[in-house]
Formats: sequence, structure tokens, C-alpha cells
Amino acid sequence: MRIEQAETETPPRTGLLVDSYGRRIKNLRISITDKCNFRCVYCMPAEGLPWLPRAEILTYEEITRIARVATEIGIEQIRLTGGEPTVRRDLPELIRMLHSIPALRSLSLTTNGVLLTKLAGPLAEAGLTRINVSLDSLARDRFAQLTRRDALAQVLAGLEELEKYPSIHPIKINAVAMRGFTEPEVLDFARLARRKPYVIRWIEFMPLDADQIWRKEDILTGAEIKAIIESEFGPLQRITTGDPSETARRYTFADGIGEVGFINPVSEPFCAQCDRIRLTADGQLRTCLFAQNETDLRAVLRSGQDDEALAQAIRNAVWHKELKHYIGDTRFRRTARSMSMIGG
Ligand code: SAM
Ligand code: SF4
Repeated sequence: MRIEQAETETPPRTGLLVDSYGRRIKNLRISITDKCNFRCVYCMPAEGLPWLPRAEILTYEEITRIARVATEIGIEQIRLTGGEPTVRRDLPELIRMLHSIPALRSLSLTTNGVLLTKLAGPLAEAGLTRINVSLDSLARDRFAQLTRRDALAQVLAGLEELEKYPSIHPIKINAVAMRGFTEPEVLDFARLARRKPYVIRWIEFMPLDADQIWRKEDILTGAEIKAIIESEFGPLQRITTGDPSETARRYTFADGIGEVGFINPVSEPFCAQCDRIRLTADGQLRTCLFAQNETDLRAVLRSGQDDEALAQAIRNAVWHKELKHYIGDTRFRRTARSMSMIGG
């Protein structure tokens, strides 16, 4: 792998997706809408954002074509996200279309969970096999304070509904870790991980919030949360799969009951192993959450170019994938898009 070196060679015209630092890219996150029915403080402003015009949003056919071409050159896993993906009409139809792509090994969804009581069954039936539900508090008032919506009961009911569909497995819960907010409920979440078939993972707060409230001091590290859990439950046992691109540090409790994980992009960056790229709802390919440049795949699609041209546009973008995010470094620059406009 090359270290901090200017790119000189040209992108390959054949073969699997690889960047100029030697990283193999296997993971594509697709945002299918910039809209959301929540207003989480770490993501969106209270009044929302100007939504993208409908004509700029990729259709399900366009998304499926990009996904198919991407899998033909090495993408193995696709995760749908947003905005809130469940607010887009006929989501199970898109799942069905993507599920039929032969080379796709994993299809998953990230959601705030509020519409799952209605959608869990149709999503399972359409072929969804993995899910992440975002949930930052188990207390009604604190949940409402964070999401600016009084909807905890619906999210918990949505999680219960998911349990009826064992083909969607594992059920992962993601909580954003923020100093001053997260600490009081760490143990409640740990108990939930032991009582329910949910894997709980904390992700460090990143400077991607539209209101720009993020401060370095707000980061609550995975190590700190682990220490809180261990103060009550004793030492956690590490679980490893050997997959170097796995972002979460996974642990089980000493008695083997329950799983928790820590995604530490700020305190322990995993850029050197990053295997991901992102497609925004308006068809822009981003090779890093913090990318300053995007590749307009929608223009390639809508100008009538063939699959080979699309594949080459993806290869070129991937070749120029950023070395790292530089959070906490003087070289760090915020991006014009905030999290809901990228797709986390
Ligand atoms: N609306 C869906 C949801 O909330 O799960 C999908 C989109 S949301 C942008 C994807 C993930 O990004 C969520 O788990 C959310 O908690 C996380 N997220 C949003 N803003 C973040 C930030 N500033 N730092 C870290 N994670 C963030
Ligand atoms: Fe919506 Fe997800 Fe952002 Fe919350 S984190 S405002 S649910 S897109």
C-alpha cells in the first residue's frame, strides 16, 4: 500500500475496483432520498434543508443500473440509506430490483426505524437481509430532544416487528456517541444488547452536522464507552472475523450473552482499510464522507452512455479516492454537504 504519495499512474481500464493506494473497493452506500421525517441535532437543522428537486433524484431504474455495473467491477455489498430511505415510495420494489443482481453478496438498509411496523414485512419479503436502525436514547424525552420528534415508541415497535422476520439478521442498532448526552444511557443500551437479539454499536460523532455544532470536545470515544460498560459487567471479550475492512470493534460479554461494538472513525481512523464509496440521491459518486469532489454519474446515465462508460467513470473516481479524512488535523476541511445529503 502506498503512503501519502501523489497519484501519478492512470486509472486501470479493466479489472476490479482499486484506488491509487491499493485499496480494493467492495462496498457501496446508496442514498435514495435527501428527505427525512426526523431532525436529529447531529445531522439536520430543525427546519430541514432545501430538498433536491425530484427530477435530480435518480430513479429506481437508474440506481439499479449503477448498482449492477458496480457489482460487475467488484462491488459486493450495497447499503441503502438517506435521508430516511423508508420515506421514499415503494422501497420494497427497489429492494426487489437490487436483490436480483446476481453478483451482489449483501444488501442492507440504514433507517431511523420509525416506519418499520409497516415496512419490515414487505422489506423482508422483497429480499432485505441486513438492517441498521439508528437509536440514540431509550428515554422518551431524551429521544425527542435529539431527533426533535416524539417517536421512540414507534421505533421500539418497529424493532419488535423486525424480530418476526429472521431472514433479516442481524438487527443492528447504531447510536451516535456524544459527550454529555450518551453517557447516562450506556448501561441501559448494554442491557438491551443482552436482553434482545440486537447488536448495539456506538459511532463517534463526526463533523457532518448541518448546524455545525460539532466540536472536538464533543467526541465520546469508543474506549470511554467500553470502560463504562466494563465498570458494570467486567471485561468484554473481543470478537474478530478477520475481515480487515470491518469498521466496528466488536465485543461480547464474559458470559457470551449479547454483542456491542464501537465504530471509532475519529479516535481510531480506519481510512487505510476503507473499502467504501457513496452515491448521493442526486447521482454523485463520493469516494469519502469528507470528499471535496464528486463524480456526476447521473450525467453519464442521462447522456445515454453505455455500461462500459459508466464502469470507467466509477473506476476513475475510485482511483482518486482520498487517502484519509484528516479530522482533528489542520488539513481537515468540512464538506459542502452534511450527513443527510450524503448518505451515512
Ligand atoms: N435516516 C437514516 C438513519 O438515521 O439511520 C439513514 C441516514 S443517517 C444520515 C445514517 C447514519 O448516520 C445514522 O446512523 C446516523 O446516526 C448517522 N449520523 C448522522 N449524522 C452523524 C454525525 N454527525 N456523526 C456520526 N454519525 C452521524
Ligand atoms: Fe434523518 Fe437519519 Fe439524519 Fe436523523 S440521522 S435527521 S433520521 S437522516
